[in-house]
Amino acid sequence: MQPYTFTPIGLIRSPFKEKFGIPRQPALAKSARMTLQLLPPFDHPDTVRGLEAFSHVWLQFVFHDTLARGWSPLVRPPRLGGNAKVGVFASRSTHRPNPLGLSLVPLLGIDTTDGVTLQLAGADLLDGTPVLDIKPYIPFVEAVPDALGGFVDGPPPTLTVRWSDTARQQLASQPAAPELAALIEDVLAQDPRPAYQDDPERVYGVRLYHSNVRFRIAAGVAEVLEIATVAPN
Ligand code: SAM
Repeated sequence: MQPYTFTPIGLIRSPFKEKFGIPRQPALAKSARMTLQLLPPFDHPDTVRGLEAFSHVWLQFVFHDTLARGWSPLVRPPRLGGNAKVGVFASRSTHRPNPLGLSLVPLLGIDTTDGVTLQLAGADLLDGTPVLDIKPYIPFVEAVPDALGGFVDGPPPTLTVRWSDTARQQLASQPAAPELAALIEDVLAQDPRPAYQDDPERVYGVRLYHSNVRFRIAAGVAEVLEIATVAPN
């Protein structure tokens, strides 16, 4: 078969500046907001005429940050603890023969005052992700309430999130406060650690907007230790 080439129609702007901490699927961090800025020549209001009547959209995008790592026929899904292997086509792994992602996200609004920008919720995408296509979600065709979810049947367990006094005080001076607080809680509740790591003393850092959030996890509780402002990339 001949290869095909596609041109990105837009770019994602999201709070996630690095892969660590990004939710594994869109609905898992409901407070994570992102925008999709359409690129010329697709940034004409005509391209989204009628889209505002839909509550959700499918995004097809490129896993651009992991392209160079290629693919393998078997992968280890975090949901199986990082040990058991399944076929790449039985997974949502980023390491695919064609590194394409598919996310269903709530459409909050469309701004056509300067080009076209879609406001979206439930982000699971890295800042700068190239988007290849947008399609409206059609509930009567695509909602399948009795579908089987294989090894990901049902939401993952979540952690309780607590704040140190220091982190609470630092939160107020962060550029992205107040929405940052809800985002931190959503991200940490998902337990962003790699599946095989469980060291209660280890301090992790996750970058959200322009903040570096330091935390540790012990006995099912994620504790926000401190928040520092970092310079934009
Ligand atoms: N919902 C999509 C899907 O099913 O195709 C994405 C699922 S994939 C498991 C989600 C993970 O992809 C995130 O947790 C993050 O680690 C990674 N990711 C997000 N954006 C990416 C990008 N632009 N390049 C590489 N990896 C990315």
